[in-house]
Amino acid sequence: MANFDYIIVGGGSSGCVLANRLSENPENKVLLIESGRRDTDRWIHVPATFFKVLGKGVDIHPYASEPEKGLNGRPCITPQGNVLGGGSSVNAMIYIRGHRNDYDTWSQMGCHGWSYDDVLPAFRSLENNESLSGEFHGRSGGLHVSNPRHRHPLSEAFIQAATEVGIPYNPDFNGADQEGVGFYQSTTYRGRRWSSAQAFLRDAEIRPNVTILTERKVARILFEGRRATGVELQDGTIFSASKEIALTAGAIATPKILQLSGIGEAEHLRSHGINVVADLPGVGANYQDHLEAPVQGETHEPISILGHDSGIRAVGHMARYLLSHRGLLSSNVVECGGFVDTAGTGQPDVQFHVLPVLVGFVDRDPEPGHGLSIGPCYLRPRSRGTIRLRSADPNDRAEFNANLLSDPADLDTLVRGVETAIRILDAPALAKLIKRRVLPKPGVESDPAALRDYIRRTAKTVFHPAGTARMGRADDPMAVVGVDLKVRGVEGLRVCDASVMPTLVSGNTNAPVMMIAARAAAFMTGKAIAG
Ligand SMILES: Cc1cc2nc3c(=O)[nH]c(=O)nc-3n(C[C@H](O)[C@H](O)[C@H](O)COP(=O)(O)OP(=O)(O)OC[C@H]3O[C@@H](n4cnc5c(N)ncnc54)[C@H](O)[C@@H]3O)c2cc1C
Repeated sequence: MANFDYIIVGGGSSGCVLANRLSENPENKVLLIESGRRDTDRWIHVPATFFKVLGKGVDIHPYASEPEKGLNGRPCITPQGNVLGGGSSVNAMIYIRGHRNDYDTWSQMGCHGWSYDDVLPAFRSLENNESLSGEFHGRSGGLHVSNPRHRHPLSEAFIQAATEVGIPYNPDFNGADQEGVGFYQSTTYRGRRWSSAQAFLRDAEIRPNVTILTERKVARILFEGRRATGVELQDGTIFSASKEIALTAGAIATPKILQLSGIGEAEHLRSHGINVVADLPGVGANYQDHLEAPVQGETHEPISILGHDSGIRAVGHMARYLLSHRGLLSSNVVECGGFVDTAGTGQPDVQFHVLPVLVGFVDRDPEPGHGLSIGPCYLRPRSRGTIRLRSADPNDRAEFNANLLSDPADLDTLVRGVETAIRILDAPALAKLIKRRVLPKPGVESDPAALRDYIRRTAKTVFHPAGTARMGRADDPMAVVGVDLKVRGVEGLRVCDASVMPTLVSGNTNAPVMMIAARAAAFMTGKAIAG
């Protein structure tokens, strides 16, 4: 049985950061285990082709919830990365940290040491921003953050139209103020995707103290008494860890592994014949995600990116890309958007993701023709779901109830988001380009029941699962990890991925998850973060 100092379970956004930071000290023998392949598919690295990667389905876990009451009985299909880099290898590359208040709220909930001022140095230490610097930005981290190299006319028109309805232009969503619309910065470098694997694993994997296993799945953590001592893979292989094991398998897989290992609600584990190591009812509870509903308009002219992925146009885009790493293929497609305060609380509650094309989803064909898609999503969901075992067999899918839109406040926020997006679509800069609104059908918005039904029929995830092993105070019965990310009631085990978020941050989750991993590494090594 091979022995390591640290074992990292999952080579995604968080796992790659951790592998890098833990292996900086050549004394530390580090093993990273990833269930997916290496990130060799060339479409991963070309920003605009991430839809191809998702469509192929090879490098993703095709998670789907049980039929959801809040979605009119549809399951919430929630693909996640299953490849080195995890989500950061298949995502839309938008670089967002969330709102300052998100982290201050964590701190107020008892997660001392996680206020915005506490986490800012970790964000800065990771970041290598192409153009922004100062108090909020880093210029020397491994994660390249770049301005768009391609700005589609429909993206420009959206931004102008939004300002016409009174939403301010914001050149930096990660600076002093989140509110407003503009182009997103992306985790790309010189026109290529800059995943966590690219940013942090390429340097680490050439170190002699790092071992990376791909296409190997961890089934459970092994314990001697209350101490985590190793991991068992689904093929029966066992590796031991003399210092610590870090779970970074993402917010859907991590609670499953914890429960298979005997950490979870005691009664639930016993019902599956699993020996209880720690009775932590918060494992698999508190599931949260961002959900959006589409607002789409068809354009008079064939100006969207529809059809640009085939034929002579695709050849032209590829030629330009190969020569200069510029043009449409360097675009993350979701080039622009923004954050809007639809409830007048002084803090944005809706984010827009805007695409210069009419998009569908796995369970819905795109509307025909050229057009623009605006996706308003709520930022601070109140609905909570669960991930629980079906059996003690690691091959069995976990029972996943996302429970989306179970809290009426979430639906109310989406209604306001859709109404705001319709106003933007009707503003002069877009109105002159748009022939007709295709979604929701004109008139639906004047019937409150019909609009709510439309949202329940069409809403889809924005791919940000979180919260299923949440951090909290020692006296909080639903907390799974403490503020040092150590799993309560056992030794030698931490959770260091999106699962630990007590509440979902107000924005895209890749950068926040990397921040969590960077802080975890600092806790584990005792080496301070130089932010
Ligand atoms: C399609 C899509 C688009 C997105 N767009 C954006 C965006 O534009 N901007 C943004 O900020 N965020 C975006 N996100 C979200 C962001 O990428 C995720 O929040 C982030 O990657 C989560 O990081 P993680 O480390 O928690 O999990 P992951 O990155 O998912 O890593 C978990 C890893 O563990 C592996 N694993 C799982 N089970 C096992 C096991 N049993 N054994 C071994 N390995 C295992 C998985 O294969 C995976 O590689 C998007 C996500 C998706 C899926």
